[in-house]
Amino acid sequence: MILPHAKQAKTRRNLKNSRKARANWLYTRQDVQDLYQVCPNTVRNWRRSGLKSIAAKNRLFLGRDLNEFHKQRRREAKRPSNFPEYFCLCCKLKHSLLEEPFQVVSETRTYVWIKVSCPEHGGTVSRYIKNSDLNNLRQQLERKTSDETHV
Ligand SMILES: [Zn+2]
Repeated sequence: MILPHAKQAKTRRNLKNSRKARANWLYTRQDVQDLYQVCPNTVRNWRRSGLKSIAAKNRLFLGRDLNEFHKQRRREAKRPSNFPEYFCLCCKLKHSLLEEPFQVVSETRTYVWIKVSCPEHGGTVSRYIKNSDLNNLRQQLERKTSDETHV
């Protein structure tokens, strides 16, 4: 059974308060999860998208860095997105089609319907992109993969 509030939680804005953490406090991973009410996966994604942390026996986060990270995300969300970046309606953040795996659902001569999974929620988001953009994207991805394998 799906509770009514479960659906609401899925669509609520994912931008976090950028004044929530105390600048000079140190937070453990668990503290961060509790403070923003997020799961371990989200904290991992934040780190991947640039949240600074201190490598200690148990990883630590400085309050100032947490606030700065969330402030930056709010700023980013306001900026218009340039392809292959796209604005995700699922979490209200920008993701890049170069980073997130996508699936082509159907293709016409001009437009392509793709599905991307949101790295924050794991939900699927549908997008229409231009055929020329898809070709462009495939070339960029190929270049990216060959760069990675030749390093
Ligand atoms: Zn998203």
